[in-house]
Formats: sequence, C-alpha cells, structure tokens
Amino acid sequence: MLQLRPNCECCNTDLPPESSAARICSFECTFCASCTETVLKGRCPNCGGELVMRPRRPASKLQKFPASTERVYKPDGCRTAA
Ligand SMILES: [Zn+2]
Ligand SMILES: [Zn+2]
Repeated sequence: MLQLRPNCECCNTDLPPESSAARICSFECTFCASCTETVLKGRCPNCGGELVMRPRRPASKLQKFPASTERVYKPDGCRTAA
C-alpha cells in the first residue's frame, strides 16, 4: 500500500491525499508538481526513477487506510539533483 506521504521532499509543501499535485516514484519518494517540473525534470533525485502522478485514495478508504503522517524533507538532496 502506498504511504501517501504528507509533503514534498523538496520544498516541504503540504500534499494531502486528495491532492492532484502530488508526484511519486516507485520507492514512494514524494514531490509536488512544481518541483517535479522545474527542479527535478521528472526524475526522482533519490533513485533516478520517473516521477508520476500519485493516485488519489478515495475518501471512503482513507478512514480504514489512512495516509502517512510522517514527513520526509530532504532539501539537500533536491539541490544536488538540479
Ligand atoms: Zn515541492
Ligand atoms: Zn525515488
């Protein structure tokens, strides 16, 4: 199950589970659409994999399968990738 992390690793902006601006790689590294396009150019800075739109979990399922609340924030990793 996807963790649905609550923020962008680059800029720490909030990415709630219903957000259509969340992008994710196969290892669940999570970024906002703005960082993905302008800074990362569609590539995950941690693993080099592609970043795609994160699927949204229906609200009815979030009660039983809640989104992660653990924030991951690595601004240094973002800079070196740019
Ligand atoms: Zn961002
Ligand atoms: Zn990654």
